[in-house]
Amino acid sequence: MFLAYCDACEERFLLPANHVTSVHNLESGVIAVELTCYEGHRILVLSGKDIDVQGPATV
Ligand SMILES: [Zn+2]
Repeated sequence: MFLAYCDACEERFLLPANHVTSVHNLESGVIAVELTCYEGHRILVLSGKDIDVQGPATV
């Protein structure tokens, strides 16, 4: 499950793995996970050992 904030819905969702559309490994151990919310909006969540904040980043 991924906790992701959707800008379009202005809501935070707990999304199951089947809402993941792609996963990118960025430099320095950061993982960018692309998801779709329940309304179908695209959300980008950054995670990994170097990310301290709990909140996701959205693009
Ligand atoms: Zn949405």
